[in-house]
Amino acid sequence: MRWTSTWRSLPLPPPGTSPPPSPYPPPSLESISITATPAPRPPLQPTRTSSLIMNLKQTVKNLMLVVQTGTIHPGFHGFATCGEMSYFVRLTDEYIQDDFNLCGLSSQVPYYDYALDLILDVESSHGDMFTEEQNELIESAAEMLYGLIHVRYILTSKGMAAMLEKYKNYDFGRCPRVYCSGQPCLPVGQSDIPRSSTVKLYCPKCEDIYYPRSKYQGNIDGAYFGTTFPHLFLMTYGHLKPQKPTQSFVPRVFGFKLHKP
Ligand SMILES: [Zn+2]
Repeated sequence: MRWTSTWRSLPLPPPGTSPPPSPYPPPSLESISITATPAPRPPLQPTRTSSLIMNLKQTVKNLMLVVQTGTIHPGFHGFATCGEMSYFVRLTDEYIQDDFNLCGLSSQVPYYDYALDLILDVESSHGDMFTEEQNELIESAAEMLYGLIHVRYILTSKGMAAMLEKYKNYDFGRCPRVYCSGQPCLPVGQSDIPRSSTVKLYCPKCEDIYYPRSKYQGNIDGAYFGTTFPHLFLMTYGHLKPQKPTQSFVPRVFGFKLHKP
């Protein structure tokens, strides 16, 4: 099923009025403050409308790329996530455009239609009707929408295969425990509800979770990976499930084990 634009279905606020309050908190200061290497601004366009649309798209692309990778990569939707810094896989156009895959998300994400247009890079004639504050809300909504589509996509066969490639490349990092011997980890959320907790790393060997080392990954919402992914992944690719560690660390004082009452 092809997705079609629903620009006209969402009533626009009359000019000069404030946008409705968002039920979601704004992006954290840390995620904003790390935009150290923004992409160059697009050149000014002949008309104000097209210029504003270009600026809006560039801003959300920068935001998404910083949130996801900490670096700037050109590519698909502006959300390309190549490089070892990223936990995200690319969503396919056909997956995003299938309404079935987006079922229920319109009630979770504010400015849903505008956010979806932004992700799909759909041209709009309403770009100049938004205030700066509304643009920021839409950008934040686009980030959330992308994440909430992502958590569904990585449970599909295609999405899981894409995550497998990243797992093989150690893109998610390795377990910090010595006796796990550098076991590659998988991203996991502690909650499926957005804005509940940040993403963690699950080690299939010791079956524990850890904070990502990088502050970029440390700020990603755990709901964009969900509580199911690593376990379904290891059920799907059972041959990748490692044996439990045979050794564990024993504390000693002068060579003697500690007495535990
Ligand atoms: Zn481990």
